[in-house]
Amino acid sequence: MSDLRNCPFCGGKAEAKTWEVGNFGDREAGVTCTGCGATFGNAIDFGATPDEVEAELVGAVERWNRRADADQTLRGPAEIARLETALQIARRYVLSAKETFGADDDAGWIIQQDLKMVDEALAGGGG
Ligand SMILES: [Zn+2]
Repeated sequence: MSDLRNCPFCGGKAEAKTWEVGNFGDREAGVTCTGCGATFGNAIDFGATPDEVEAELVGAVERWNRRADADQTLRGPAEIARLETALQIARRYVLSAKETFGADDDAGWIIQQDLKMVDEALAGGGG
């Protein structure tokens, strides 16, 4: 069986094992953290062979060891910077449209609304 990674919640040591559930001999195979108790397990079929129980444990270890890609978790700040740049560009276009069309007629009102939305998005307020 492959090594168990430490708990993603507390960093504690984890162990793969089987345990009983309820009073009727039902069992689960899974992984539990010895530090914080984070646990997940799958029911073992009644009458499962030792090989089938072992397969459940191997599957549980694989799932326990799975982590989100670092790319995925580090994407937040880069994504925010990219969107801020896009909003700055949008703001420049709205301002140049305002210069071209003025702000007195219907087009001007729409431009004012667009500018307001872009400014709110840049401020993090949303709309
Ligand atoms: Zn833990």
